[in-house]
Amino acid sequence: MSSTTTDTASSVDVVLIGGGVMSATLGTLLRQLQPDWSISVFERLGSVAEESSNAWNNAGTGHSALCELNYTPQGADGTVDITKAVGVNEQFQISRQFWSYLVENEIIVSAKSFLTPVPHMSFVWGDDNVAFLRKRYEALSQHPLFSGMEYTEDTAQIKQWAPLIMRDRPAGQKLALTRSLRGTDVNFGALTRLMFTYLASTPACTLHTQHEVSDLVRNGQDGWKLKVKDLRQNTQREVNARFVFIGGGGGALSLLQKTGIPEARGIGGFPVSGQFLRCTNPDLIAQHHAKIYGKASVGAPPMSVPHLDTRMIDGSPALLFGPYAGFSTRFLKQGSLMDLPLSVRADNIGPMLAVARDNWALTKYLIEQVLQTQSARIKALQDFIPDAQAKDWELVVAGQRVQIIKKDAAKGGVLQFGTEVIASKDGSVAALLGASPGASTAAPIMLNVLEKCFSAKIPEWTDKLRQIIPSFGQKLARHPELCDEVFDKTTQVLGLSQ
Ligand SMILES: Cc1cc2nc3c(=O)[nH]c(=O)nc-3n(C[C@H](O)[C@H](O)[C@H](O)COP(=O)(O)OP(=O)(O)OC[C@H]3O[C@@H](n4cnc5c(N)ncnc54)[C@H](O)[C@@H]3O)c2cc1C
Repeated sequence: MSSTTTDTASSVDVVLIGGGVMSATLGTLLRQLQPDWSISVFERLGSVAEESSNAWNNAGTGHSALCELNYTPQGADGTVDITKAVGVNEQFQISRQFWSYLVENEIIVSAKSFLTPVPHMSFVWGDDNVAFLRKRYEALSQHPLFSGMEYTEDTAQIKQWAPLIMRDRPAGQKLALTRSLRGTDVNFGALTRLMFTYLASTPACTLHTQHEVSDLVRNGQDGWKLKVKDLRQNTQREVNARFVFIGGGGGALSLLQKTGIPEARGIGGFPVSGQFLRCTNPDLIAQHHAKIYGKASVGAPPMSVPHLDTRMIDGSPALLFGPYAGFSTRFLKQGSLMDLPLSVRADNIGPMLAVARDNWALTKYLIEQVLQTQSARIKALQDFIPDAQAKDWELVVAGQRVQIIKKDAAKGGVLQFGTEVIASKDGSVAALLGASPGASTAAPIMLNVLEKCFSAKIPEWTDKLRQIIPSFGQKLARHPELCDEVFDKTTQVLGLSQ
């Protein structure tokens, strides 16, 4: 979807930088809460949803910790901690409620074009991993958010649930698998386009593609002055905004640094790119219907957990395996090789060097991944599909993720794998850094932006927020009845019954 509007207003209430799922979600929320505010969206590429939010640039997993083993770490005493998993699932329920509101209020026609029910499975082999998965299942299946999860060590049952991973598998391997039918595949690109189509159709909202924000400085006491380049016309203009959201994905850090806000000091970024093997054989694609997550290898960052993924993209099923990590100094897939070097500042060089010093396992992992041959990639795939053949798979490059590096009193600097909203004290600018759990949690993350930047408006907005997200302000994990009610309702509205 490219720009169709021609507004040239030089002062607006809100500027959203970037045409990804985060800006789309925030814009759509603000439209419900404050329909009279003017909004301008600036996207440097020719269309929205062309970077990480594009369906082919991410794995499309509706992250709700049903299958991702990195959200349930095992302690030295063998216990499995489900705190993070409960939090991630709780966040996904907020996204489901938000999307249901969009469907019920005809903001988007239906969820079918972006949301598909796909079983989520965890698959492990070896005694220790099987013992871990059993404990994980015992801890999670008691919880209302994970209700209905199934566990098996029976190879015949695994074969029935996921035939592709059992074909030609050597006998005698100790295996275990969990299955949840609550899982989803999400086409975040399609969702982003739907939200921007809606936004651009509302009064006082303009979407400008091929417009790059190159700088932003404080505009006296009342917001920000942005320098915006029209890349099509090769012209530049200034736009004033009372509130700016920097939803530039990997490009957010550079813009945040330009604001000069104290909250941005000491923050650096470390880009990790992703690659997938994409199946080219329609017969194989048809034989698999699940997202199957395994265990990460030692030193691998949490988002590199291997998985075999059924996707539904623009009405067609696809099958991906990966991700394989790559390294590039670009912060965006269509960014510049100078992104990383230019992000190094006097205030973040210390934390960045400390991270380089303390993360040898990650460095070693990345070097091994970058040097990996196609036959090594196929070998990793054969852990999941034992009879996989190179001729049926092609390598595709996915999006860039910029991990956050922050100052740390004890270590000098730490590398974070989560997502964080950085906002100025006066709430006039906010940026989203990091990319995990990512697009799945766009709605709760954008609620967090509202809470940080518009705290004085929240009492006035609360009734509307409860219409949009019925569980707003409550933890579903603590209210099993509300949890069931919200889950059943969203399943029905989003058409997710299996
Ligand atoms: C390999 C991989 C796998 C992933 N898998 C999953 C998954 O399974 N599930 C999940 O939930 N999440 C996943 N994610 C994360 C998810 O894709 C991201 O969290 C999400 O798409 C980020 O959305 P965004 O809007 O912040 O960024 P983006 O979608 O990257 O959008 C940012 C936009 O800003 C634009 N921009 C940047 N700078 C400027 C500027 N100066 N001026 C104007 N425009 C600018 C860019 O061109 C881009 O269009 C994955 C990510 C990767 C890379």
